[in-house]
Amino acid sequence: MNFVERFIKYIMVNTKSDENSSSYPSTSTQIEFAKMLLTDLKELGIKDVEMDQYGLIYGGISGDNNKDIIGLIAHMDTSPEIDGGNFKPRIIENYDGNPIKLNDKYVLNSEEFPSLLDHKGQSLIVTDGEHLLGGDDKAGIAIIFEILKYYNSHPEIKHAPIRFCFTPDEEIGNGADHFDVKKMKAKIAYTIDGGKYNEVNYENFNAYSVKVDVYGRGVHPGSAKNIMINSITLAMEFNSLLPSNMVPEKTEGYEGFNHLSDIKGSVEHTELNYIIRNHDSGQIAKQLEDFNNIKESLNKKYPHAKIEVTIKESYRNMYDYFKNDMTAIHKLERAFEKVNEKIIFSPIRGGTDGARITFMGLPCPNIGTGDYNCHGRYEYVSIDEMAKVISIVKALLEE
Ligand SMILES: [Zn+2]
Repeated sequence: MNFVERFIKYIMVNTKSDENSSSYPSTSTQIEFAKMLLTDLKELGIKDVEMDQYGLIYGGISGDNNKDIIGLIAHMDTSPEIDGGNFKPRIIENYDGNPIKLNDKYVLNSEEFPSLLDHKGQSLIVTDGEHLLGGDDKAGIAIIFEILKYYNSHPEIKHAPIRFCFTPDEEIGNGADHFDVKKMKAKIAYTIDGGKYNEVNYENFNAYSVKVDVYGRGVHPGSAKNIMINSITLAMEFNSLLPSNMVPEKTEGYEGFNHLSDIKGSVEHTELNYIIRNHDSGQIAKQLEDFNNIKESLNKKYPHAKIEVTIKESYRNMYDYFKNDMTAIHKLERAFEKVNEKIIFSPIRGGTDGARITFMGLPCPNIGTGDYNCHGRYEYVSIDEMAKVISIVKALLEE
């Protein structure tokens, strides 16, 4: 089975995670999928492989013991935003740059998605317009499988000892919850997940979630004068006091934001949920301060209402680690050079499992897979770029 066939086999399984689930992994389909991977790994002849009680798969292939053990990590779940699995993906060979009709309703075109034009002449895999593709991160899984298959059938080729791990629930931020650095046994690791094939990330957002609870006072609207406190309008006032330009739709690059991602409410109680992001830890502290300051001023202004702010850290910028130790990055730079590819470093406007794993003591930058427009029906993967990632990772392992 080549990596394209394997990729298609894996995207057929709907492994979307569920942020409202209280089990781990959040969906049983991920366990089914993990079992499938276990069987396939054994079929490849990989003997050192196990699944732990949380559904994480760990394994390895021995190599040159004089070299540092390198870890490769990909996640098994797909975004909860839209279903994946069980549909007819389409392979478009020798892509000509024209709009791609996904189905009667949806067209993938370069006007909306300019990155498409980078793939002229390449082979792409696109969705049926109703599902996400699942390349995030089954492209990563298929790439790692191809590498394991290669070294397992070529024992004569010298390479670093390889460890690998497939994790569940990355898309809901819980991918590293049960990740065991000791079990991984690697000196450095790389997540292989999403984006342009030559894009490497070792900077990501610092991230917090903020919940704002607004408590009002509900009475009959007919006799509400000077009595009712409508928590919904108070919540709107709260939101209006935040910096209006500091939102995802108005920021890019290193600019941080406060994103109101969810609101539900009634007269008595309204809940606002925000995600707060910034690459700079000093800046994000100021953003969080804004929330507390607004809370205090509104609690003063409306003594009969009550506003509570709950702040939770989600993840940190892994650059805080890499600024002092660039070993994993320099290694990658040499691998890119060896295969004549240009490495591009870009700060992630999000987080990765790798960021959390880095702070657990295993430095873990991210390598792209050639998967684009993830989390939706316009997702596509470039087969040519996946092949390039495979050769880059081989160069990394043979360095
Ligand atoms: Zn991903």
